[in-house]
Amino acid sequence: MIPERKLRDEIIRFSHLCYERHLLVAMDGNLSVKLSETEILCTKAGCHKGFLVDEDLVVIDRKGKKLRGSGTPTSEMAMHLACYDERPDINAVIHTHPPIAIAFTIAGVSMARCVLPEVVLTLGTVPTVEYATTGTLTLADKLRPYVRDHDAVLMDRHGAVCLGTSLLIAFCNLETMEHTALITKTARDLGNVRELPADEAGKLRSLGLKRYGGPPSAVAQADNPGADLPHACTGCSGCAHPSPSGIAPKSEMKMARVTQAGLGATLGASDRGKDTARLEDALVSEVLRALGK
Ligand SMILES: [Zn+2]
Repeated sequence: MIPERKLRDEIIRFSHLCYERHLLVAMDGNLSVKLSETEILCTKAGCHKGFLVDEDLVVIDRKGKKLRGSGTPTSEMAMHLACYDERPDINAVIHTHPPIAIAFTIAGVSMARCVLPEVVLTLGTVPTVEYATTGTLTLADKLRPYVRDHDAVLMDRHGAVCLGTSLLIAFCNLETMEHTALITKTARDLGNVRELPADEAGKLRSLGLKRYGGPPSAVAQADNPGADLPHACTGCSGCAHPSPSGIAPKSEMKMARVTQAGLGATLGASDRGKDTARLEDALVSEVLRALGK
């Protein structure tokens, strides 16, 4: 077990880093770390993370009741407790308001996409939890199914929840999420976001889960490439329109994939690209085929 003094120093250090790295401002966000299976050290309500001191930390039990320290545990601690309940393998949770990643949720642009190989390898994709009022048990409950399968999650119009076996790992997941958002936004500004081919995304994710680990539910499927990736990543390589919420469509939904070879076969080599009406027919038949009609 790591001494409490060391974990207090760590939570103060990472709180300062979250502020310095523009991952939160003012009184935003909260950090927590397990002291033991029954006690959690966390930042109290209404404290500035950039200037956090030892007196801003409180110790709570697994139900959220304060055990030690001055100040009140934040209502957002319900989200942290939900994470610890769902993921016995993790020891730290960081919740912040990273501006670019949040902007993706406001714009309705999914971050559950396979764009950067090293991110697919180490973190997988980042889903978005549908909107619920901040600080409520409703939001904490909505978070539960997502944190079972992911180490980094976005909440619509609100912020990020990142999990880790340590504060360092949770912080790395948070930084990676926001850095990915910045790169993806820059690519969109330049004109195009090209996703990894589906087979490469699946291969990378399998490799990453075996090499670096991840949520136990995902690691259990590491031999099944793409199993923990959203349907949008594996059903439609290069898809520009994954579900806006970032949530994988229901399994019975299929996505049409019109390939160059498929079009060639339908249109014939000589008039490929010329006959708009026949191109439309090809698209319709592909959509109907995907729908199983
Ligand atoms: Zn918040």
